[in-house]
Amino acid sequence: MKLVSIVVPCYNEQEVLPMFYDEITKVTGEMAKTWPELEFEYLFINDGSKDNTLPILRSLADRDKRVRYISFSRNFGKESGMYAGLKNSRGDYIVVMDADLQHPPAFLPQMYGYVKDGEYDCATTRRVSRKGESKVRSWFARKFYKIMNKISQTEIVDGAQDFRFMTRQMVDAILDMSEYNRFSKGIFSWVGFSTRYIEYENVERPAGTSSWSFWGLFKYSLEGIMAFSTAPLAISSLLGIISCVIAFILMIVTVIKTLAFGEDVAGYPTTICVIFLLSGLQLFCTGILGQYLSKTYLETKHRPIYIAKETDELYRERKADKGQKAPSGEDKSA
Ligand code: UDP
Ligand code: MG
Repeated sequence: MKLVSIVVPCYNEQEVLPMFYDEITKVTGEMAKTWPELEFEYLFINDGSKDNTLPILRSLADRDKRVRYISFSRNFGKESGMYAGLKNSRGDYIVVMDADLQHPPAFLPQMYGYVKDGEYDCATTRRVSRKGESKVRSWFARKFYKIMNKISQTEIVDGAQDFRFMTRQMVDAILDMSEYNRFSKGIFSWVGFSTRYIEYENVERPAGTSSWSFWGLFKYSLEGIMAFSTAPLAISSLLGIISCVIAFILMIVTVIKTLAFGEDVAGYPTTICVIFLLSGLQLFCTGILGQYLSKTYLETKHRPIYIAKETDELYRERKADKGQKAPSGEDKSA
């Protein structure tokens, strides 16, 4: 049997949660018919909701023993919710999806199709439109992805989402990244593994409201930049160098001008040159400090140095697994 864990972070989702449960059980029921080897667990993370989300989760857990939930002591944010879900999931495959049906459960069979034979380690959706979103918001989002991909080595695909069907191996790699400030879009991409994108049109929420304000998203995007790029720290070095170059040019100009025409205001040209030169040097030195700081910053994240996807050991184990299962069909002795 293969267990699929469906991790769902929820924050004030009382309106959509029952709808989500109906929808997801319908889809997983059909999947279990197509692939009899599949079992499911639903792991809801109640991220400090202030509405009836928790009582609804309790009643779902009473009704259905596949339902598990973790309820936070306060609102920690979706990133923490996803981490808790991944950490506590028991499945061989792990799905992360929103509770608001903006990540249509109907994609799950297709996603499993990509992942089941080991061709891909992750299947995910990519919005090709931002229908239903304000123009300003999509403009900023586009700019964010552009800037981010310029200054960071980690590629972040425009329109990529946190709706993912992943193998245990990839999830373990994600969990190895124990950094506190989590930016999942970057983390999913940083760990590597082969990812299959499924393109689709944006779906609007059937009920409830988005808990992301424009300001919240803006702060989150800054977090993304800071977590996956140290370019902002290098900017002061660059400004310092530019300032020093200007100072040198000014100095040369001043010397020539003074020699040729004499000084108009005594001491003024030299003062300006000194200001430019010193502030340039200062910025430059701050930049150097920044470079060291950025190294320390990356070290303190304790990211894994590498992530191996396959070794001979793993290969043999998998081969033995397949060999055992194929002839008997089911194996209950273990
Ligand atoms: N969410 C969460 N904690 C938060 C905010 C959101 O767990 O602090 C969950 C929310 O319940 C939903 C998902 O994250 O399942 C996406 O949130 P939302 O729909 O508000 O964001 P949007 O789709 O507008 O980006
Ligand atoms: Mg949403």
